[in-house]
Amino acid sequence: MAEQIFDNIIENIFAPMHAAVQQYVPALSLQEVGVVESISEGVVMVSGLPGAGYNELLKFPGQLYGIAFNVDENEIGVVLLGENDQLRVGDEVHCTGRVLDVPVGDSLIGRIVNPLGQPLDGLDPISGTQRLPIEREAPVIMDRDAVTVPLQTGLKVIDALIPIGRGQRELILGDRQTGKTSIAIDTIINQGDKNVLCIYCAIGQRASSVAKVIARLRARGAMDYTIVVLSEGNNAPGLLFIAPYAATSIAEYFMAQGRDVLIVYDDLTQHARAYRELSLLLRRPPGREAFPGDIFYIHSRLLERATHLNKKRGGGSLTALPVIEMEAQNISAYIPTNLISITDGQLFLSPKLFELGVLPAVDIGQSVSRVGGKAQLPAYSSVAGNLKLAYAQFEELETFARFGTRLDENTWKVIEHGKRIRECFKQPELEPIPFLEQIMVLLALTNGLLDAIPLEKIKEAETAIRESKDKIPPDVVKRVFSDKPLSDPDRDIIINIVQAALVPFIVVKKEEAPATPEKKPSTK
Ligand code: ATP
Ligand code: MG
Repeated sequence: MAEQIFDNIIENIFAPMHAAVQQYVPALSLQEVGVVESISEGVVMVSGLPGAGYNELLKFPGQLYGIAFNVDENEIGVVLLGENDQLRVGDEVHCTGRVLDVPVGDSLIGRIVNPLGQPLDGLDPISGTQRLPIEREAPVIMDRDAVTVPLQTGLKVIDALIPIGRGQRELILGDRQTGKTSIAIDTIINQGDKNVLCIYCAIGQRASSVAKVIARLRARGAMDYTIVVLSEGNNAPGLLFIAPYAATSIAEYFMAQGRDVLIVYDDLTQHARAYRELSLLLRRPPGREAFPGDIFYIHSRLLERATHLNKKRGGGSLTALPVIEMEAQNISAYIPTNLISITDGQLFLSPKLFELGVLPAVDIGQSVSRVGGKAQLPAYSSVAGNLKLAYAQFEELETFARFGTRLDENTWKVIEHGKRIRECFKQPELEPIPFLEQIMVLLALTNGLLDAIPLEKIKEAETAIRESKDKIPPDVVKRVFSDKPLSDPDRDIIINIVQAALVPFIVVKKEEAPATPEKKPSTK
């Protein structure tokens, strides 16, 4: 009985009411509209959006977007991703319900885009692409593999002594104008025949230096396999901040397809500065050197995304070359120390060497590669084994010799040998040297074949060595490239060819030989 009454009530009263309410539901759906409360450089405060999530993309009038960075109870701090000239206090703000993403795909190769994936090269919009969020989780440990394949830079000093592997993170740090960008560009140019896709991510660089980089890449045909993600110094700090993340998402798309990718972040000092600016404007508490406390996390979560995936995940890799600008070689400043501890090694560029014309100005003593050695081609270990030690000895003795001390013949020999090592490691920019030619030059160097040649003739001699590469029999070449160290017979074959190439230079030396040893060192 009671059940019947209950059913009656539902059928005759609630059901019609429910139907009536249903009619209005679409009209009743809520949409929050926020209001711009205040505007500062690159950052705005917005009220009236209690439903906005952390990192949500917010839409402002005039196709301007921003990211919800500080989500407080009454107000949201928003980082703008464009210029705020047109924005006024009181303007409306809408939630989009999504996080920031970038287009990814093959059609980006050869293009120059901004961190939002919009073309800057005046060509068609990027089409036929997927989109990936700019912030993604780094691959888990189980999906990663050891670094096993070398990433040849084409620079003798790096490939021989501080080798980089695919999937490694190697920091390039140095003062202003010490050749940091040049090393990165040479490395990109050297990937021409190595099936490595490259991404150059410019963060807060001067327009002129970016234009120079792009012109160089174009001139060497490197744009065929390179993507440039560009944010300039005068862009909104929000754009600078998202640039490396966006570039990494683009790289990850290719890595997931099993490809090897190289990414250059030029430079993360500007990135840290942009983040500091945003954080201070958002009134986050500053810490050491006025950087917010989470700057370490900002960079580590970026660089953790560089790795070598295991076979199950396709075997792709992402090698990262972050660049850092130091002030007065202060390696213990906050950002350099952070990044040194995050990365797997560093290339330290010395302004002193740069002034002396030792280019690339890599300070061998302060540079290290913690994982690349295992990936280095075995032929290197058999030819460059004691080069680092010989060079370190030379550097020490060279300082000593400057005091005009009388040197014995052995010391003098170490110094002369060291000078030739230094001369050999000098390399003009945009001229990466192929692996086989590097091995020939290094063999000549470590076997002392160059010690009998006057210093000023070393470069010429090096060219002669490299030009004789075609004389090496194909089967020997094959074995040099193999995963086995150089065998003694093969080494002798190459040494003979190198010696033959050096004959014209040694003849000159022989005539002068007796005079030099005693004269030079005894400067007293
Ligand atoms: P910035 O601090 O402005 O970014 P940087 O450290 O990136 O500078 P680069 O722009 O790469 O330095 O190089 C500085 C100058 O040194 C450039 O004019 C470049 O042409 C020159 N240079 C760099 N490497 C070499 C080299 N191996 N041989 C000759 N010149 C070089
Ligand atoms: Mg630079």
